[in-house]
Amino acid sequence: MFENLWNESDASAFVLSHSKNKINADVALRVYSSRLIGSEKNLVMHGGGNTSCKTIVQDVFGKDTRVLCVKGSGWDLGAIEAAGMPAVRLDPLLDLRGLEVLSDEDMVNVQRSNLMDQNSPNPSVETLLHAFLPHNVIDHTHATPFLSLANLPNAEAIMQEIFGSKLVSVPYVMPGFELAKVAAEIAEQNPEAHGLLLLKHGYFTWGENAKQSYDRLIDHTNLVESWFSSQRRNVPCVSLNHSNLEKQRVCHKLRKALIQVSDEPSPSFVFDWVDDERLISQIDGLILSGITDRGVATPDHVIRIKAKPLVLSRSMQSGGEKEILKALEIFVNDYTEYFNTWSAVSVSPKKMLNPLPKVVWLEGMGLIGIGGSMSEAKTITDLAIQNVHVISDGEAAGGFYPVKDKDLFDLEYWALEQAKLGKASPPPLQGKVAIITGAGGAIGSAIVKIFEKSGAEVIAVDMNAEAISSRGFLSRTVQKKVDLTNIGQISKLMEEILQQFGGVDILVSNAGSAPEGSLIEMDEECLRRSFEVNFFAHFRLAQAVGKIFIAQGNAGQMLFNISKQAVNPGKNFGAYGLPKSTLMFLVKQLALEFGEYGVRVNGVNADRIKSGILNESVIARRARARGVDEDNYMRANLLGKEVEADHVAEAFLGLALSVRTTGHVITVDGGNIEASLR
Ligand code: ZN
Repeated sequence: MFENLWNESDASAFVLSHSKNKINADVALRVYSSRLIGSEKNLVMHGGGNTSCKTIVQDVFGKDTRVLCVKGSGWDLGAIEAAGMPAVRLDPLLDLRGLEVLSDEDMVNVQRSNLMDQNSPNPSVETLLHAFLPHNVIDHTHATPFLSLANLPNAEAIMQEIFGSKLVSVPYVMPGFELAKVAAEIAEQNPEAHGLLLLKHGYFTWGENAKQSYDRLIDHTNLVESWFSSQRRNVPCVSLNHSNLEKQRVCHKLRKALIQVSDEPSPSFVFDWVDDERLISQIDGLILSGITDRGVATPDHVIRIKAKPLVLSRSMQSGGEKEILKALEIFVNDYTEYFNTWSAVSVSPKKMLNPLPKVVWLEGMGLIGIGGSMSEAKTITDLAIQNVHVISDGEAAGGFYPVKDKDLFDLEYWALEQAKLGKASPPPLQGKVAIITGAGGAIGSAIVKIFEKSGAEVIAVDMNAEAISSRGFLSRTVQKKVDLTNIGQISKLMEEILQQFGGVDILVSNAGSAPEGSLIEMDEECLRRSFEVNFFAHFRLAQAVGKIFIAQGNAGQMLFNISKQAVNPGKNFGAYGLPKSTLMFLVKQLALEFGEYGVRVNGVNADRIKSGILNESVIARRARARGVDEDNYMRANLLGKEVEADHVAEAFLGLALSVRTTGHVITVDGGNIEASLR
């Protein structure tokens, strides 16, 4: 059930704080109740809803102007501000009602050209519906219970049973100008109604003010929710009985099949796997009853999760790689056929979107959202889970019958909906899952930051948890405390990464430490420890990640922080140079062995970078030994400029993006002929 969160003192505080910015009380309260609605995911899942109010503001001449303040595109209701509710002059919008037809382009143009502030975001695609309805405050949601109701075969009868004449239904019409006209007419013919049920779409309510509309929204939604809860069958809850190993196998096979079928040169697939018991039993129930391709509840669903999931039965999961590949190829063929059928009768020419599935239902194991980034994958699972709940509730109460065929196609390929997904080209490593070790150090943290900026999903690894958490990484970056000299901890790390992301694309093996001392005097144990950190840790990570690359058919890559020490020995750094020169050989050997899998292996030789290894006191000591000051010591290279951690990080990124380079080592040392390669 949904709680009514309205609080008078919070509401007054909103009015007061907005009045200081010359924003009137209508808008302030509109922002307040929009946030209350937006804070409850099952009311407005990822943009599934919009709100408005009609009020009077002064234009630049001080003249009172009637405006509609309506949710702007790109704003989340849960965090909306007045700037996210652009004011559009109301009278020109109302004039549009007299037209017979209005194209989407003209509609958007009229809306934009009547904005009070041209810097505002585009008003919602449902602006005209808000404008044509006569009420002061209007709330529109795609709340889960209303979606179940709106997609029932006998939705109107059930609506009347629950609401009597307080709610009226609107037949399915594609959102936009036509729906706005139809809905406004129906509302006007039923002045006693407090809201509309838009069949196969969602719900509208309204009020004299923000509070009245919000109160109705919560009451109405709870009435529908309690009706469905009385219909729900008791689905026996399955118990989770799949192992992490089984999940890993499925991830490997599924990712491999996706990579094989994708026609992009370097596709990104991030998995968000949800396997709670209630969800599994609902999905299994739907698979068992053959309800796997009924469709999705709203336009917002179809553009993000596609009309149906890829379904993997138990036998497909446990079968060979070919089974999953075959299921995926059938999915892509079906989608292509759906596109060809309906684009042929479409008014304007359409270009087929990526035909790969966004959601996978796994019998007995839950569902996976497949995104081009983790945040997309999480949005997809949220909507996919909501869709499962809507279908299950609908099926228990008469059936789930959403829009299909041409109507579905028109929604999926509606330019105004596609615009919500944004067209900006993604950063170069978008959705690439990258493990970066030694992330708490100077060079490691610089690499994490440049990879974050390039869109990668980063797993920042260090043996010192405080060192990682103090670096100010993005919240989406996952922090892991791992001792890389411990093979058990490396396996656990890989297991956790597969659980969380479904796979891995890039290894940046950077962690190291530099023991000092002459080899003649050195205790052998000290040399062995250095090999553990500076060679074997790299080797074990490469083996673990390499096995995943091969299992997933993933043309991933490995990058190693070597050191100039590998080719140009420094006094007393023998115990560091020996494993580092072995590491350089490892880069070449791995490049040779992994080439046939498309996996690239490269390294960076950096020198004289301020870091944990070369700290202030070491710098001071070495500068003294060479008879120069510290600044000159740091700049003692051909370019005469200090080399910083960011320069090294740029070299790692450069290698990561050099798609035809493998077995290569880049030097980042400001120029040093003795340490130069070839
Ligand atoms: Zn809607």
